[in-house]
Amino acid sequence: MSAPENAAAPEPAAAAAAPATAVRVAGVNKVFETRGGLVHALEGIDLEIAAGEFVSLIGPSGCGKSTLMRLIADLDAPSAGTITVFGKTPTQARLDQEYGIAFQQAGLLPWRTVAANVALPLELHGVASAPRKAKVEELLDMVGLADFADRYPDQLSGGMQQRVAIARSLAEQPRLLLMDEPFGALDEMTREKMQSDLVRISAETGAAVVFVTHSIPEAVFLSDRVVVMSPRPGRIREIVPMRLGASNAATTDAAARAARTDGLREDRSFFEMVTAVREALHGAPVAAGARGVETR
Ligand code: ADP
Ligand code: MG
Repeated sequence: MSAPENAAAPEPAAAAAAPATAVRVAGVNKVFETRGGLVHALEGIDLEIAAGEFVSLIGPSGCGKSTLMRLIADLDAPSAGTITVFGKTPTQARLDQEYGIAFQQAGLLPWRTVAANVALPLELHGVASAPRKAKVEELLDMVGLADFADRYPDQLSGGMQQRVAIARSLAEQPRLLLMDEPFGALDEMTREKMQSDLVRISAETGAAVVFVTHSIPEAVFLSDRVVVMSPRPGRIREIVPMRLGASNAATTDAAARAARTDGLREDRSFFEMVTAVREALHGAPVAAGARGVETR
């Protein structure tokens, strides 16, 4: 399709998102009614995520990160505003298996083997045995668990269980992955390994990723853009594009992202981006220029 996208004024009639847009959140509010009164979990959220883009949500506990994920995933509905996923309602996107989900708890079925856990979504959607087996093999290979297909979840480490969950979320080849603190329970070394794996996998599959984390370095390492949120009510405070590596250019290009390796964690640009996100989180540009970024 060739929509007149670049025309001067944005047409309000463009309700159906362009195919290049994975997620569009427009004017979204979410209010919970509790015994203690109304909780304004989200207010005035506008966010557009391109196909293939990796976007992290970061912010203090209770700022509405999980709520926003749940709205995108059709696990809850906004109080106001609209959300589209590849131009569809979240419900339609869910029915069409447009996205895969991986949350903090791996959520594996303990009585099923690793292979059978990954195969579950394919089984549920009637994929025949032979192609199913082939797909499961490919996915386990991708997450480095080919040798563990016949094990049970309780025989695996936390990191391995999380990789099974990621493999399962990729089973339907979704164009979008929704990940809510998937590495939150892992030790630091496992976590860095999983981050590198996820960078590679997201580049290989070309899927857009919405990723919730508490960790600034994790958000910086993984993302094309980092969305910084503030609580009560949950709002987007700032969106920081990541400029990393030699080119120092912002990118939403999956291939460029694949070039992110562990060495980047020691690159000057990495520390500069960590500082930028930290300053955005803490609000005002505290003593901007005077501290943080040293110049020699
Ligand atoms: P985060 O994931 O950023 O820590 P959440 O999205 O879980 O934050 O929660 C945002 C706010 O909404 C919090 O104040 C939380 O207590 C409230 N909240 C979330 N879910 C519900 C619910 N089902 N009922 C009432 N309040 C909720
Ligand atoms: Mg949460």
